[in-house]
Amino acid sequence: MIYWDNNSTTPCASRVVEAMQPYWLEKFGNPSSPHVFGRRAAEAVEVARRQVAKLVNALSHEIVFTSGATESNNLIFLSLLCTSGLARKRIVVSSIEHKSILEPAALLGERGFEIVHLPVNTRGLVDLDAAERLIDGQTVLVSVQTVNNELGTIQPVAELAEIAHAKGSYFHTDAAQALGKIPFDVEKINCDIASFSAHKMYGPKGVGGLFVRGGPKRWPWTPPFRGGGQESGLRPGTLNVPGIVGFGVTSVMAAEELISSQYDYRAILDKELISLIKSKMPEVTIIAHRSPRVPGVFSATFPDVPGDILVNHIKEVVISNGAACSSGALSPSHVLDAIGCSRDEAKATIRFSFGRLNSNDDYTSFITLLKNAVVDIRTRSTSKEVDCDVF
Ligand code: PMP
Repeated sequence: MIYWDNNSTTPCASRVVEAMQPYWLEKFGNPSSPHVFGRRAAEAVEVARRQVAKLVNALSHEIVFTSGATESNNLIFLSLLCTSGLARKRIVVSSIEHKSILEPAALLGERGFEIVHLPVNTRGLVDLDAAERLIDGQTVLVSVQTVNNELGTIQPVAELAEIAHAKGSYFHTDAAQALGKIPFDVEKINCDIASFSAHKMYGPKGVGGLFVRGGPKRWPWTPPFRGGGQESGLRPGTLNVPGIVGFGVTSVMAAEELISSQYDYRAILDKELISLIKSKMPEVTIIAHRSPRVPGVFSATFPDVPGDILVNHIKEVVISNGAACSSGALSPSHVLDAIGCSRDEAKATIRFSFGRLNSNDDYTSFITLLKNAVVDIRTRSTSKEVDCDVF
């Protein structure tokens, strides 16, 4: 089987698994305990904090560990909800954010906040002119992802941070799909807060982080969680030591890979795969093809071929139809809708996200499988209308 769904999750690197191993059994201490077992675990957490900080060019005390990007994102919105007497109540988010931004934003919208959705152009990029207009002196927070999970497009986050700061707003970026894939530097972007996830970058699931400029003691709002005061009270709860150790090691590996030829190699694969698809199937549209994009991540529309059926048809390759019908939700992707795709186009779209373990051997045979599957499905569907919502 070939795995081409690395934006959903990645396998945990064996170097990461090895580094985590001692923290399940021998070094199992609670980092909050003052005895030797606790101190050993606490030291491992601090090493990991430095490793994650180094990857994103932050100071180590500016990294807070969480259970993943969903929690990091929710923590920000719930903090705003818990803060009384806020002078500003406008929150600006892009319309192609992950649900872990859009859903908490919607909740705040029901509780007296004004939620504004930034439009995104057909190239899958946030419209900066609209941002200039919509981010105003009433805006408390602007939240725009660094990389879109469906299109792979890299958003102009440094420019957006500048616009937000000029209006006196905080700027947050969800960097779950950026870390380990492109260089990510909190100083260059000048973000105030950023969210991370380890399992999108060959680390373990259920661990992630938050960059907080100045550290958690400088958190500008009321933290929503209460407990034992871990992570300076911003994210209380016993730390996931093995997971955090794994996140640290995967950050070191990501930094090594970004300066190695791996990054360029993936850009070459991306180019070759797209040109092969275009030469064999000229009717296919690669969405946001020419936009700044993470190499190896893109969505493609196969006219008249329902994405769900296509994905199920090619048994040898694992690809996501999440772009067409967000998993379990059975409704077309809000991202494709926001960039102007019709419902039919969205239904005929699938996402490719290849990663560290994929090579060009993978896709030469895949193109043949893909083409055969497309022809087969088109032939069959002439006799029967198929709707992606039924799957
Ligand atoms: N944000 C983005 C952009 C994502 O792609 C994802 C994962 N699909 C998340 C947040 C959620 O991350 P996690 O699984 O760590 O909660």
